[in-house]
Amino acid sequence: MLHRVIIEPFKIKSVEPIYMSTDEERSRFLRESHYNPFLLRSEQVAIDLLTDSGTSAMSTRQWGAMMQGDEAYAGAASWERLERAVQDLTGFPHILPTHQGRAAERILYGVLGGKGKVFFSNTHFDTTRANIEFSGAEAVDCPIEEAHHPSFLHPFKGNLDVGRLDRLIRERKPDSVGAVILTVTNNTGGGQPVSMENARAVSVLCREHGVPFILDACRIAENAFFIHLREPGYEHVSYRDIAKEMLALADGCIMSAKKDGLVNMGGFLALRDQSLAEACTNLLIITEGFTTYGGLAGRDMEAIAVGLEEVFAPDYLRYRIRSIEYLGENIQKFGVPIMLPVGGHAVYVDAHALYAHIPVDQYPGQSLVCELYLKGGIRCVEVGSVMFGKYDSGGKLVPAPMELVRLAVPRRVYTQSHIDYVVEVFREIERTKDGVHGMRITKEPKFLRHFTAHFEPVRAA
Ligand SMILES: *Cc1c(COP(=O)(O)O)cnc(C)c1O
Repeated sequence: MLHRVIIEPFKIKSVEPIYMSTDEERSRFLRESHYNPFLLRSEQVAIDLLTDSGTSAMSTRQWGAMMQGDEAYAGAASWERLERAVQDLTGFPHILPTHQGRAAERILYGVLGGKGKVFFSNTHFDTTRANIEFSGAEAVDCPIEEAHHPSFLHPFKGNLDVGRLDRLIRERKPDSVGAVILTVTNNTGGGQPVSMENARAVSVLCREHGVPFILDACRIAENAFFIHLREPGYEHVSYRDIAKEMLALADGCIMSAKKDGLVNMGGFLALRDQSLAEACTNLLIITEGFTTYGGLAGRDMEAIAVGLEEVFAPDYLRYRIRSIEYLGENIQKFGVPIMLPVGGHAVYVDAHALYAHIPVDQYPGQSLVCELYLKGGIRCVEVGSVMFGKYDSGGKLVPAPMELVRLAVPRRVYTQSHIDYVVEVFREIERTKDGVHGMRITKEPKFLRHFTAHFEPVRAA
């Protein structure tokens, strides 16, 4: 059995056709969307690797459960099922349902944050940082040194630098620390895992200083897979028990169910402390909804309750992590440079290394994003100077530290032949790389420009 291919551990019952566009059509679609794939219509895309968030395929059990959704305003049976499922997984008594992860973040960091407060994390996800900063507090990233080196191999590259955290907490005084947030897996680098040892050290330190310890548990099942695989002592512990052990170290967690909840919408906040839960509940009712539905329909809560069970199935997790690794392994074979090791939900390609002839102020990542669409109808996102670049006072681009392109893989959506197709397109990308032009921005908004900016190719004079 050991050497056989890991097949998709599901059969397909309902299918969604993919429109097979021609080269000419894609060239026109891309021009019409101003060389920004965020502006493409989804029907124009063959393989959509823009994000793994909210793009999962649901199971027959989830769809079946949705038919039993109890849509009562208060005390719905669907809420009771979700509450039990989340309590059982997290061990926390107080559960607040929300319409997605950022709603839980706005509530919790609104209560814990505010002016003069500081938060520390292995890396704050962008909505996490935004909600902390919106409260008036400061968000400081504190990853281990290895995380800064794209090709440095480390089994738990998502770890937090505990020594530095200790110094920072002492420097800033424990009273001013809103919380320490461990993001598992760490989104940076495509879902780099955090070890149990690291979570334990963070927990001990937080307890010593009397500082709240929160887990951002969006991808806790994927993280548990890596611990089972790589951390001594966990070979025989189930994925679910690994997740429970990690959650038991924290004072609360936030989860976007759009990731390891295997649903298209939903999230929750789970807390140990009653008075903190009460403060959060007040905010929940003002903007999300009553305590027994948050922003969710009864049927959505049913789907999350089932998804949280299914995501820990060993065959599912093995297939999931292997798909991403397989994609990374195979595009690397043609010399396409990627970030290593491959994480849990995405592969990051180093566009600067691939297109060495394109200067960073001509956005090599955006060129690669456009090439992937033109050659294969594949949609993905630039994570480089388009997303993070700034201008200095003279209007000159201050580039991002790296020019990456992210291929994020939706859960249970694509099969190995879809991934093989992406690999084939990369082979062509590598072969034709010398003729690719840079891009220039022709129109951009003030904030979050990657979503709506317009581009055009820079042609040789
Ligand atoms: C997606 C995500 C969030 C925010 O969740 P939404 O459901 O998109 O609002 C927070 N943290 C991490 C690590 C995420 O990946």
